[in-house]
Amino acid sequence: MGCLQSSGGKEPEELRPRDEEAEGSDEEIPRATSSGYIVPTAVDEVEVVNEEHGAHEVPVESLPAYWTNRRVHGEASGKLCQHFDQMVCVSEAGRQAIRELVRGTYRPLVTQDRPCPKEPACPKTPAGCPCVKPDGTPGLPTEYVVRRVIRVEDSEMWTRYAQKRSQIRERRAHRMPLRGLEPELFTSQVVATNPGSYDSLDTGLNEVYLWHGTHVRTGLAIAQHDFNLEFAGSGAGGMLGSGIYFAESCTKADEYATDEPGGYYEGIFGMLLCRVTMGSMFYTTQRRADAAEQVESGKFDSTVGDRMKFHNTFREFVVYDSDQVYPEYVVLYSRAYKADDAAALQLEASRNPFHLQLPVYWNNFHANPDSDVFRVQYKVREQTRALLQHLVTGSFLHPAAEGPEILDVRRVEFSNMWSIYMDFRRQVQSRGAVCMPVNELDGKAETGHTLTHNLMKELSAEDCVSLENLDVTVNEALLWHGTSPELAEKMCRGAGLHAHKESMHGSRFGKGTYFSEGLGKCLEYCTEDANGAVYVLLCRAVCGDIFYTEDEESPKAHSLARAEGKDSILANPGGVGPREYVLLQRCQAYPEFILRIKPPPAAELVPEAVAEEPAAEAAEEGLGGCLPVAEAVAEPPAEHERFWSSSTG
Ligand SMILES: [Zn+2]
Repeated sequence: MGCLQSSGGKEPEELRPRDEEAEGSDEEIPRATSSGYIVPTAVDEVEVVNEEHGAHEVPVESLPAYWTNRRVHGEASGKLCQHFDQMVCVSEAGRQAIRELVRGTYRPLVTQDRPCPKEPACPKTPAGCPCVKPDGTPGLPTEYVVRRVIRVEDSEMWTRYAQKRSQIRERRAHRMPLRGLEPELFTSQVVATNPGSYDSLDTGLNEVYLWHGTHVRTGLAIAQHDFNLEFAGSGAGGMLGSGIYFAESCTKADEYATDEPGGYYEGIFGMLLCRVTMGSMFYTTQRRADAAEQVESGKFDSTVGDRMKFHNTFREFVVYDSDQVYPEYVVLYSRAYKADDAAALQLEASRNPFHLQLPVYWNNFHANPDSDVFRVQYKVREQTRALLQHLVTGSFLHPAAEGPEILDVRRVEFSNMWSIYMDFRRQVQSRGAVCMPVNELDGKAETGHTLTHNLMKELSAEDCVSLENLDVTVNEALLWHGTSPELAEKMCRGAGLHAHKESMHGSRFGKGTYFSEGLGKCLEYCTEDANGAVYVLLCRAVCGDIFYTEDEESPKAHSLARAEGKDSILANPGGVGPREYVLLQRCQAYPEFILRIKPPPAAELVPEAVAEEPAAEAAEEGLGGCLPVAEAVAEPPAEHERFWSSSTG
């Protein structure tokens, strides 16, 4: 049981806290760890930001067809959709289209702009120093391995881009179609054959897809905040004036890409794939510092610096107005060299995409939680709330009840709590063994997956709660935690789950923090606020190596689990549930969403109603396999009564 490869007893001492620590205390979260981040102390003040901004709206049909936000709002012509600004993790099919574009635009060429990787570095050498030439060591990267692709869906940035494009179209109307490129752009063909990933372009206006290489974190920041001319010209030396530089070859863009040595993104490079309206192009084969003036004069909209024609290197593309650019994709990748087995790396990357440091839909997703302090709660926008409502309803799965209704939901973005949580995740990951998955522990491989996981898969809610960012190899899951309103608030203001000592949690399976995948179980731990609402937390939890028990009760379970070197307990009473997860350390969970919900009327929960037979249907729908059924049928009525009578009486 547990880890496929035993890791018991090998961890450093601090990974195994003494028993009393798991019990929790009122002390501040310990100032852990390897990364040395700053621990804010006050837990009472917190900024709450409303994610629904103003009245800005966009016509649905102006958006690229494959955007999540267009899909969600339907195809109706003339329909407006509300402001959105979010990052979406691209699925494996979409990553495949990006891989194709990377492959199709790779050229084994080196210029003086490729930095020497050695210490000390060679001076800048025309046509590149010996270390980065294809026959050098390590040589020129032979392939770029796509690790993660993020699509930027930002209605405001998109509107600015579309408006600028219209302006240029009007200005050049008398000359349409504009003169294009000879030979054809590297990206054109791949783009034209993948309409599911790349929007159709206004080729008469020289609208194109181009690469922009940069520091990995700058790439993420641009995706979040738009191009800013303060980033511009950096690394390109301003050969064609001060503007934003692009390449048609990923090899050229890679010359300007840098990773984060010693940081989270070490070995991970960033490139943006941008839509660019080139319009009328000022074409030159020379170094032209006055190129910007040529464009400002109104005669041209952009510059092409052609070093391919006479120098057999690359063409570069420059615009001087950030509204002519829409950074649509962020591509995170690693480099493969001739000494590497590139095919093996590509295969591994397609199976296990790289995990971002922060969830992709967070406002702070580009920040470094180890050094940038952020402590904000976001009142989520309507779309996120609707998806979470589905999750709530699906997690409840009660045959006779409509399920609880969300009254209010906030997303918690706290750098300090996140860093502590991620430190734990890294520790488990560094054991180098895949943890025995939940569905194999109870011998029901087909149906025993975490309920929340199954629901999220169905909802395809990547833009709201990311499954892509959960590491299943360490049994990371989304789980519910129910508690009192006061404690829920306290936990989400920086205290973390360690506040649980004061919570109502019993000790049926010993000391630890209790979670569930079904909401029914979770509600048993809640108490109502003055208005009859209850608070539940939707947490990310790293269960790690799991101690499995089918006992009805086992107060010593935590000691047994510790003795076996486990991180958590999965209690599945009688093999039929409802299952409970007991995490032994408080750093194992992060309270990501705090939900205030209106519980269903107690009358709907009388035991007779519970005994109806929705079991077969629920299982066939694949909603949660055996679990919701088990929960619905085997929930001890006495406990329901206890909760519901206390909450309504
Ligand atoms: Zn060198």
